[in-house]
Amino acid sequence: MQVAFSGLQVLRGVDLRLGAGETVALVGESGSGKTTLGRVVLGLQPVSGGSVERDLTPLQLALVHQNPYAALNPMRTVGATLQAPLRRHRPDCDAAAVARGWLRQVGLPERADSAFPDELSGGQRQRVALARAMLLEPRLVVADEPLSGLDAALKLEMLELMNRLQGEHGVSFLFITHDLATVPRLTGARLCVLYLGRVVEEGVAAEVLVRPRHPYTQALCGAVAPADPVRARTRGALPVRLLLQPDVRCPPSGCAFHPRCVHAIERCAVELPSPEGGVACHRAGEIDPAVW
Ligand code: ADP
Ligand code: MG
Repeated sequence: MQVAFSGLQVLRGVDLRLGAGETVALVGESGSGKTTLGRVVLGLQPVSGGSVERDLTPLQLALVHQNPYAALNPMRTVGATLQAPLRRHRPDCDAAAVARGWLRQVGLPERADSAFPDELSGGQRQRVALARAMLLEPRLVVADEPLSGLDAALKLEMLELMNRLQGEHGVSFLFITHDLATVPRLTGARLCVLYLGRVVEEGVAAEVLVRPRHPYTQALCGAVAPADPVRARTRGALPVRLLLQPDVRCPPSGCAFHPRCVHAIERCAVELPSPEGGVACHRAGEIDPAVW
């Protein structure tokens, strides 16, 4: 599948599958196309090539936005915000009671329904946003950087909450993040690493994170400081030239990562690697995946 904005190719050859009850963590640096891919999945962004197969109705899809300050109407109480979609789409239910039930499910007191967003903390607001996403019982939630702006403990709480909601409701999550450190907390997730609009590595997150095979994934893993200070000190240099920021308007030839890659050979500059066995790298078989 491809997406272009006025001739600018933002997603190229992306092939993503998301099954029922599954979590896919989509990682990549800013500008790699994560939000665009999330919008494609939600049907908000048409593709310019390829196709999207989606056996879900619009009401079975929901979005958790990066910024809960902007996502919640400051003039409405939490209760009014949660009840509005219920009144519209589930006219027979007791909207106030269902809304309060969802507040409980996301770990907020029922009295939060009379609060305005500015009376809540950032973490509480993001719980309200998650409750709003969940209350029509969607089958897929796209969560676009839902943890940015939260401190480390709140991030963990939100991740545990998402795992619990997934277990209880069987919802699928497309979890978009630039922060690889949050991914191991997502139960059973698959990981999809995006670089300049292409998937460079994909697999079971718990396996990819222990043995990243693409130099870009290795660099992302290496950028996460290990808790063990000895390991942090003894680890070698990142396999990436960090200062060479890619420009989406003129992506490098061949493997788009090659100008930043310390393992690159001539072939990498001319030939696009095909994603074989989950990794799109000409040198995947030669470089040591365990180095990080
Ligand atoms: P990410 O979420 O990974 O940071 P985005 O999907 O937001 O990346 O953007 C990928 C690229 O597409 C960026 O270079 C961005 O400038 C460009 N882009 C995104 N949306 C539009 C748009 N509506 N029009 C033109 N360019 C866009
Ligand atoms: Mg984004």
